Amino acid sequence: MRNEHATTICLEHQAAETQATPHGTVCPRCKQRLYLNPPQGNLMSFWESQPVAYTLEREPCFAYSLLWEDYRIRSLHLPDTTSADEPATQVKSHS
Ligand SMILES: [Zn+2]
Repeated sequence: MRNEHATTICLEHQAAETQATPHGTVCPRCKQRLYLNPPQGNLMSFWESQPVAYTLEREPCFAYSLLWEDYRIRSLHLPDTTSADEPATQVKSHS
């Protein structure tokens, strides 16, 4: 069902990142923010050095940050082998 490729989760909105933008794949709410109120300043992007979560197999999950002066997107990257319980994300169809 949702097994295509590695899932990323927006830590800010606890939503699956499914929306393509010029800055990469983000969650629907971040995409809305990027389009309605584009963040200002230089963009830095980096992997956070500390794992932000662990799977049930104790595999560390790292977050990737996109950091502007006034906005930040943090993406939680789940290991693709995970069978851990994911946050309950509701996938709604949108046009
Ligand atoms: Zn988001």
